[in-house]
Amino acid sequence: MSTRAGIVVTGTEVLTGRVADRNGPWLAEQLRLLGVDVGHVVVVGDRPEDLRDALGFLAGTGVPLVITSGGLGPTADDLTAEVVGQFQGRPSQVDAELEQRIGAVVARLVARRGWRADPASLASGTRKQALVPEGATVLEPVGTAPGLVVPPADGRTGPVVLVLPGPPSELQAMWSAAVAAAPVRQALAGREELRQETVRLWGTLESELAATLRDAGPVLDGLEISTCLRDGELEIVTRFPPPAQPAYDHLVALLREHHGDTLFSTGPTLDELIAAAFADRGLTVATAESCTAGLLAARLTTRSGSSEWVLGGVAAYANSAKEELLGVPRELLDRHGAVSPEVAVAMAEGARARFGADVGIGITGIAGPGGGTPDKPVGTVHVSVVGPDGGESRALRLSGSRTVVRERSVTVAMQLLRALLLGGPPA
Ligand code: ATP
Ligand code: MG
Repeated sequence: MSTRAGIVVTGTEVLTGRVADRNGPWLAEQLRLLGVDVGHVVVVGDRPEDLRDALGFLAGTGVPLVITSGGLGPTADDLTAEVVGQFQGRPSQVDAELEQRIGAVVARLVARRGWRADPASLASGTRKQALVPEGATVLEPVGTAPGLVVPPADGRTGPVVLVLPGPPSELQAMWSAAVAAAPVRQALAGREELRQETVRLWGTLESELAATLRDAGPVLDGLEISTCLRDGELEIVTRFPPPAQPAYDHLVALLREHHGDTLFSTGPTLDELIAAAFADRGLTVATAESCTAGLLAARLTTRSGSSEWVLGGVAAYANSAKEELLGVPRELLDRHGAVSPEVAVAMAEGARARFGADVGIGITGIAGPGGGTPDKPVGTVHVSVVGPDGGESRALRLSGSRTVVRERSVTVAMQLLRALLLGGPPA
């Protein structure tokens, strides 16, 4: 059994979804790299009793380490340090030296930003942030909040609690000091390496994959396989200890055997594959988008360094833009309509010609919810990719919201691009 840990993410803004949790997933990934498996991420608001319950629950699972994020600020609703101290049987006291160090940081911050702050309230905030449970290890603040490592009080059993600040940049900057702290190292002693590998399929159903895994039987013992269908792609993530490597190799062979026609990656993401293909082959690309209006161009330029291969794109929403900016013939638009395979190809060719790119991509469709007709219902999308050695096109009938239709159209365009550049399973 691998070593396990629990995580409590605090903050009413995270609980209510106003802020998406970035700390739980980041911590889980860092722990995985250390060979520590996370069983639970519990999200609670800024209420002390809820935090106490979450600590109690995670302690009850028997994990040696619990990590909290958030609630270390200077205001009254930031209660984590005090609650954790109580939970571990270690009452908090002001650490006078820490109070001075935090005071200096706050003074610099106030001066730099030119704030006019009431000295008394600043001092009380600083004093609150310098409250340290008796016997806890202090992790130096990156912002103003120190982190804490709080073992159970002498004579008690239970997990070591590692208390980290909420702002993701502060939490991440404190991580290496946190895992180097002696009580954390002790809590995680004896852990084993845990490997994680990903296989990606495009066009296989989850039920088909489930049948393959079921039929494989005990040869896959020792693997923890989780599958996730995301944006049409079936992602198979497997975690295993090193002795189970032969079982994993067997799984990959099995997937190649049964789903070789859809398996497009044994590691890199679609976007990574495409970026590497452009870089390796020294090709360039330009886009012409109607219903996605720039989403594909944005996705292709997410990575730094993409200026090496992305020349540009046109969001050609109106017919006039398709004609004037991309050279799509008026006659083609009149005869087939803007949402047609002919126009998608003409847009791809237009982008290629106007930008002088090796590869051009055209997307035109009806994202909905309005604008559909009986022969071109909402979700009708045409995608075309044209390269130096020919092209590929797809006619799609997508279902789902406007956002889903637009995002899926972009993913299909990326898959077409991948198939054109790298071969492998068709898009
Ligand atoms: P401070 O209040 O001094 O900034 P803190 O440790 O008390 O520090 P929080 O008050 O909980 O941290 O969070 C501060 C801000 O950090 C939040 O408003 C939010 O924008 C961000 N944040 C906190 N937790 C998370 C999280 N889990 N994921 C993403 N952002 C978060
Ligand atoms: Mg808070």
